[in-house]
Amino acid sequence: MSDCIFCKIAAGEIPSTKVYEDAEFCAFKDLNPQAPVHILLIPKKHISSLLELQEADATLMGKLLFRGQKIAKEQGLGESGVRFVFNCKDDAGQTVHHIHCHILGGARLSDSFG
Ligand code: IMP
Repeated sequence: MSDCIFCKIAAGEIPSTKVYEDAEFCAFKDLNPQAPVHILLIPKKHISSLLELQEADATLMGKLLFRGQKIAKEQGLGESGVRFVFNCKDDAGQTVHHIHCHILGGARLSDSFG
C-alpha cells in the first residue's frame, strides 16, 4: 500500500532500526518504546489488522508468531517474560493500520488492560 508507513519501512524507503528481516517479515524497534525492549514485528504483506485476516493468511501468521518467539528469546526475554500485543482498530488504540505484533519486555510490565 503506497501510503502505509510500515510498508515503507518494510521496503526500506524510510529509516528504521531493524532487528530481523527476511522475504516475508521484518522487525524493528518502536520509535516510542513503552518498555526497555519494544519491537514491532510485521508481515511485509499489507493486512490492515488481525480483524481483516483471511484463511489464506493463516500460515503466514503462524510463521509470524514463531518468528516473534525467536526474536523475544534473542532479546533475552525467554526466561523473564514477554508480552505479544496486537491492537486492532480504534478502540484498541491501533494507530498504524498495517498488522503488527508488539513485542514488549525487559521490565515488569503493568497489569493494566485498559
Ligand atoms: P499501534 O498503536 O498498535 O498501532 O502501534 C503503532 C506503533 O508504531 C506505536 O507504538 C508507534 O510508536 C510505532 N511507530 C509509528 N511510526 C513508527 C516508525 O516510523 N518507526 C517505528 N515505530 C513507529
